[in-house]
Amino acid sequence: MEIIAWGTRGSLPVANSGMVKIGGNTTCFEVRSVCLPQGTHVVVDGGTGFLPFATEALRGGMKNLHLFHTHYHHDHTQGVLIAPPIFMQSLGMHIYGTKDRSFGPKQVYERIMEPPFHPVSFGAISQHITFHPIELPPTRVILIHPEGGQVIVERERFLQHEEANRPLSFGSGQSFPISECLVVFMHWTEHPERTVTYRFEERPTGKVFVLLTDEEVRAGIPTSLIEFLSKTDLLIQDVQYSQEEYEKGGKAGFGHGTPEYAVRLARVAHIGRIGFTHHDPLAADGRVEALVIEGKALLQPGETLQLFACQDYDHYEV
Ligand SMILES: [Zn+2]
Ligand SMILES: [Zn+2]
Repeated sequence: MEIIAWGTRGSLPVANSGMVKIGGNTTCFEVRSVCLPQGTHVVVDGGTGFLPFATEALRGGMKNLHLFHTHYHHDHTQGVLIAPPIFMQSLGMHIYGTKDRSFGPKQVYERIMEPPFHPVSFGAISQHITFHPIELPPTRVILIHPEGGQVIVERERFLQHEEANRPLSFGSGQSFPISECLVVFMHWTEHPERTVTYRFEERPTGKVFVLLTDEEVRAGIPTSLIEFLSKTDLLIQDVQYSQEEYEKGGKAGFGHGTPEYAVRLARVAHIGRIGFTHHDPLAADGRVEALVIEGKALLQPGETLQLFACQDYDHYEV
C-alpha cells in the first residue's frame, strides 16, 4: 500500500516562500493498493490537494473514483468543486460521508454548489455520482475487491463472514474472499462536527493505514479508539498546534491535535510511525518541523516511535 499526501494543510490553502517545503494544499490523501480494480482510485477528503491528485489520476486513465469524506468543512471539500472529476459524466464517482439527521454527502454538495456560491448547478452534473450516506460509521464496513468492485456491509455480517472464512457477496451475484480485499473501517473522531476516521486494511499484505485528522486532544483515550488503531503500520494524524499554543494560545476546543497527544496515542495503541498533518495555515516550514522536534523530545530512551511532518506530494510506503 502506498499513501500520497496531495494536501496536508489545515483550514485554508496557503502559498508563500516560507512554506515551499511543506506545501499549502488542504487535506487530500490518496490510498494506492493492490486491491483496487484497474483504473480505480481512492482518496480521503477533497481539499485543494484534490486538484493535483485528479490531474495526475486522469492523465493515468482514471475510470472510477472513491472519495471518502472525514467531514464536510470547507478545507476538506473545496478542491472537489473546481477539479474536473465532478463534471465528468464518463467517470464513475462514489462519494462517502456521514449522514446526520437527513443531511448526507449529497445534500452537502447540493448546498455548497447552490448559486451564488458555484457557477454550475449541481443537478446538471451529478448523474454520474453515487452517494453513500453513512449514518453510524462504526457499524459499517466498506470493501473494495480488484474484480468485484465495492460493497458496504453491516459490521456484524462482515465479522461473521470473516470468522467463518466465507466469501462476501458483492451484489452482482458474485462473491469474493475478504482476504483479497481492501477493507475500510470507520470510527468517530473528536471534532466539533460529526467526523470520521478511516482505517484501511490491505488484506493480501496485512498492511494498515489510518488517517486521523481533525481530532481534538482527548484527556482520556477510549478503549474503542485504542482497538481501532491496533496494528496500524502508518498513522497520519492531525497535529496542528504545539502544546504551548494549545494550552496558552486559546486553541483548545478547535478540534485539532498536539505532539503530546500523538505520542500518548502511539504509546497506548503501540503505533510505530506517525506523520503529522493539518498544518496550521500560518505555520511556516520551521514551525511545522518544530512540532516534530517537540514530539521527539517527549520520547523516553529506548522508544522507537518515528515522527515526521507530512509534506504535499510526498509518497509513503506502508
Ligand atoms: Zn480541517
Ligand atoms: Zn474540520
